[in-house]
Amino acid sequence: MNRRELLQALAAAGLGHLALPARAQAQATDAGGNPLAIPPVSPKARVIVVGGGMAGATVCKYLRMWGDAIDVTLVERNAIYRTCILSSELLTGARNMASLSFNYNALRNRYGVRVVASAVTEVDPVAASVRLADGRTLSADRLVLAPGIEFDAMPGLSDQNLMPHAWQGGAQVATLARQLAAMPTNGTMVLTIPPTPYRCPPGPYERACAIADWMKRHKPGARLVVLDANPDFVTQKDNFSNAFFDLHSQVIEYHTNVAISFADQAQMTLHTSIGQIRGDVINLIRRQRASGIVRRAGLATATSNRFAPVDVLSYASTVAPRVHVIGDSSATTQPKAGHIANQEAKVCADALARIFGGGQPDPQPVTNSACYSTITATQASWLTAVFQYDPVSRTMVPAPDSSAASVGWDSEHFEEMKEWFDALMADSFA
Ligand SMILES: Cc1cc2nc3c(=O)[nH]c(=O)nc-3n(C[C@H](O)[C@H](O)[C@H](O)COP(=O)(O)OP(=O)(O)OC[C@H]3O[C@@H](n4cnc5c(N)ncnc54)[C@H](O)[C@@H]3O)c2cc1C
Repeated sequence: MNRRELLQALAAAGLGHLALPARAQAQATDAGGNPLAIPPVSPKARVIVVGGGMAGATVCKYLRMWGDAIDVTLVERNAIYRTCILSSELLTGARNMASLSFNYNALRNRYGVRVVASAVTEVDPVAASVRLADGRTLSADRLVLAPGIEFDAMPGLSDQNLMPHAWQGGAQVATLARQLAAMPTNGTMVLTIPPTPYRCPPGPYERACAIADWMKRHKPGARLVVLDANPDFVTQKDNFSNAFFDLHSQVIEYHTNVAISFADQAQMTLHTSIGQIRGDVINLIRRQRASGIVRRAGLATATSNRFAPVDVLSYASTVAPRVHVIGDSSATTQPKAGHIANQEAKVCADALARIFGGGQPDPQPVTNSACYSTITATQASWLTAVFQYDPVSRTMVPAPDSSAASVGWDSEHFEEMKEWFDALMADSFA
């Protein structure tokens, strides 16, 4: 899909005004307002991208599209990417795993990305090199790290499958779906929400709504206990509080400020600050941090709350200028979301194309975020924001009057959600 087709697809989804790729939105201009020409890219420039998820796949594609001569190698440990976006629909049986699965054929064949199927075990941020699980070392002019998140350990939990987080796509989501299907009618499911920052702020509330709606039809009498580590709904308070306390109030029991200290996996019980809570199914979404390869390389600093601080003009690490960190591993003021990961990737690709050509990153990047939440099996709400660079704080801040959320939820938004998902995934993987 080219830029025009992407915009058409997103326009069809009612999101065209939000979807301009970062480069098209933020062309640098001279003092007279004329676009600056981007010098040709050095044919020798080499980039290694680690992680082929929402951020990594997108940056590979756009590095090749916008910096045609840049040599791009993607190191990805899995042959197939399985997204957790819309995974609520897999939990309720409305979607299968194939519809959430994406391969790297287009990156390889259409865009000329070299795809290495391996895991990176170590990053050398000074040499800009990576060590692979098979013992090889690869080096480049720049590294782009996009390996996503990891989870804190939970005392008592040695077998994650007994209390899956299902917060990365694939196997754990399938496990949770099986556990839900096997749950007794009248049973209890417990869903925990970690402290911020975590991946996909509305995600846990969305999952709770989708499962509560499904329980009404498939597990009458079942309860869903939601234990939120945060003092209140982290986002979309109006919609989620209406859904929790009205629409799904017979099913959802919501507790805030809950700390979890121990998981007794034999008894399927959580020890929490409000007492011991047992569940037939426990979806333990644990506290999150940048992937281990990012932290072991010293890129996540003590002050950046477990994620890697970056210069948001290029996503270069603030402690290792030859290493860029995009997606959920980076610490920015933008939400940890697939749509934002796609946008950060484009800003990074544009900056690298300019830097390799002897120029500077665009001084005024703009990004946008969109998120749909299924409230019932056929109805969704949405939330969106546009972010722009603030040269004073050197962070991305919400553009004036750009944040919006749907008032309530309906089936039209649900249909738009599917178009938005298809367009976003195509922009990243096709
Ligand atoms: C239930 C749920 C619903 C969501 N819904 C939405 C939504 O509606 N909208 C939205 O915008 N976002 C949504 N998100 C968030 C979105 O999925 C993430 O923010 C996004 O996937 C982050 O992209 P990423 O590239 O940083 O990480 P990922 O997409 O997780 O990709 C990381 C990649 O790196 C690879 N990798 C990791 N370590 C290594 C290594 N050492 N070596 C090689 N490869 C490695 C992994 O295999 C993976 O392919 C949702 C998330 C969840 C859990």
